[in-house]
Amino acid sequence: MIAQPTAGYDCIIIGGGPSGSTVGTLLADFGHRVLILEQGKFPRHHIGESLMPHTYWVFKRLGMLEKMNRSPFPRKESVQFVSANGQESQPFFFPDRDPNEWSTTWQVRRDLFDQMMLDNAAEHGAEVRLGVRVKEVLFDGDRAVGVRAVVDGRPTDIPAKVVIDASGVCGLLSKQLGIRVGDPGLKNAAIYAYYKDAFVDEGRNAGATIVIHTPNKMGWFWFIPLPDRITSIGIVAPPSCIITGRGDDPLATLEQEIEDCPSIAKRIVGAKRVSGSYVTSDFTYRSRQLAGNGWVMVGDAFCFLDPIYSSGVMLALQSGAFAADAIHDALGADDVSGKRLGVFGQSLVNGIHAIRRLVYTYYDREFSFAKFMKARPHCHDPLVRTLIGDVFHDENEVLFEHLKDFTTLPDNFDLDRSRN
Ligand code: FAD
Repeated sequence: MIAQPTAGYDCIIIGGGPSGSTVGTLLADFGHRVLILEQGKFPRHHIGESLMPHTYWVFKRLGMLEKMNRSPFPRKESVQFVSANGQESQPFFFPDRDPNEWSTTWQVRRDLFDQMMLDNAAEHGAEVRLGVRVKEVLFDGDRAVGVRAVVDGRPTDIPAKVVIDASGVCGLLSKQLGIRVGDPGLKNAAIYAYYKDAFVDEGRNAGATIVIHTPNKMGWFWFIPLPDRITSIGIVAPPSCIITGRGDDPLATLEQEIEDCPSIAKRIVGAKRVSGSYVTSDFTYRSRQLAGNGWVMVGDAFCFLDPIYSSGVMLALQSGAFAADAIHDALGADDVSGKRLGVFGQSLVNGIHAIRRLVYTYYDREFSFAKFMKARPHCHDPLVRTLIGDVFHDENEVLFEHLKDFTTLPDNFDLDRSRN
């Protein structure tokens, strides 16, 4: 049993991305005093534009559904895979499995989306400070008691009963504690840019995310339609293939890779590039520990998975919602021990593991969705369920049984139980 300190905020959240604004909104709804510290000035660019339908339930809790319905974001009803030889899978249409509004989702511009989410947190009562960088989490023994942040240029200590790390890939706390571990099989990089008037399918597949294998099977492209006839196009591959191995001009590399891949090249005939190129690392990692005394991690601060199935924002929202419930419960019980704050750990990790398994399958050179579905049509339902992001249940094993011919996983990605 760990008692609470008296002064300051109930909760300080480091980072105002989707995970931070989710946990902040819900904790404010519970009536807690919440401070969100975001180092950037919003709106700001961010990658991660394609959502999974399972975000619906968290959006509902956040009061975001109406705002999303009024937004300019295209509706996404499907995902489609194209193999290295250009063979297209049937699109996986999410509403075919369950024809309801929660089976579709959106393709978002993250500058607008993250701003909407953070504004929503403020409307629900969270205090939001932009341009404030947290330098470290403060500890009294093994118990987090607040943060040291740079406020108006000065280091300032701010106490709180619970500190939530939502700092994304920066991973402030996992780096401070030295508990981040990489996933040895998933070390990629990405280069991407934006195009106007690329060829987008008509009808139900118009909002699809299309995932296209490069002809050499070393990587894949994403093709994501956004508002105003803009399409986000990016390539993901090992850094040795697209960064170090192909000269030092990322834009030239991206355009060469597109030219070499007829399935994507044909979609940008007549399109105009309207941005420079962006480069980002894309290494899968996790923290060994989700929570400790007085602290908890959410979103990418805890774990990042290769983005092939567009799972990042869904995991950010879902972990934010799980954390808000656990923190509310812990504050009510006057027990902010790691055990209590991290009570949702195993459910979260099981869900992440289900998607990670499908990620590894995709990178198996023998695997293709088109062939797999032809050979095992009965897997359609569990597969679509995973692609939707409906992974926080015990039935993932059905699909795993069928995927096991293709996947060898380096370890089980579990939490280090001894640390909580
Ligand atoms: P973030 O959105 O990164 O937010 C963290 C925030 O914390 C940032 O605003 C940052 O400024 C702030 N911060 C960091 N350090 C500090 C500090 N010390 N003090 C104060 N503030 C701080 N996901 C999808 O769902 N769909 C996709 O299609 C998709 N594609 C992707 C493609 C690529 C190449 C990559 C790399 C990722 C992709 N993702 C995708 C993943 C997605 O971007 C993330 O999972 C998602 O943004 C996680 O949200 P978050 O709130 O945890 O972190």
